[in-house]
Amino acid sequence: MRLEELVRRLGSRYDVERWWPAESPWEIMVGAILVQRTAWENATMVLDDLRARGLLEVDAIDDLPLERLERLVRPAGFYRQKARSIKAMAAHLRGAHRSDPLGLLSKHPGSARKELLSLPGVGKETADAILLFAGRRPRFIAAAYVSRVLSRTGLFASQDYDEVQRYMEARLEPDPSTYARCYALMVQHARSTCRTRPLCDNCVLMDACAFTGRTGREGCLR
Ligand code: SF4
Repeated sequence: MRLEELVRRLGSRYDVERWWPAESPWEIMVGAILVQRTAWENATMVLDDLRARGLLEVDAIDDLPLERLERLVRPAGFYRQKARSIKAMAAHLRGAHRSDPLGLLSKHPGSARKELLSLPGVGKETADAILLFAGRRPRFIAAAYVSRVLSRTGLFASQDYDEVQRYMEARLEPDPSTYARCYALMVQHARSTCRTRPLCDNCVLMDACAFTGRTGREGCLR
């Protein structure tokens, strides 16, 4: 099976058109920090609360005392770390880009990524999520879910972020919408079907998957 076929089949199973609904680039940047190591629902709960309080603005977050932000971020877990990261991002945007996320996001993608990676709590996956979803820049997010689907299906076996990213970017049109859709389909598949214990009997890839080919349906974890 080729990557195009995998994407086609996943596209016939999952609807990911509204994968990352957000009202502004800044909201996506905050969401990218909040969603680290937690379920999307928990991050959404915090985003909704910040929005309802009128705090989903760069300057409002920069002005907010750290302790208060920690309390608000708590439902998303790792709240001390996440509150510090969000504050640092707001302070950086205010100081370097007049509080306009597009000031950063419209730079050359390589420079924008480097700048994002210099901020506390922003690793490669978070930086690429911000570039792709907030900046609409073609950077594929090589999340662990993507590596899992690629390696189980037999397309590409690597856990290395850069290698997986290079593999995907070499095979897809360098278009933000294509990257976002493909990423969303693979993450949705890994969360719902190709889980830690995969539900292979319910999978649109089963007849072409190296994992089931290797273990047989009998050996497949269910
Ligand atoms: S057949 Fe099983 S291991 Fe292969 S992609 Fe589907 S759920 Fe994952």
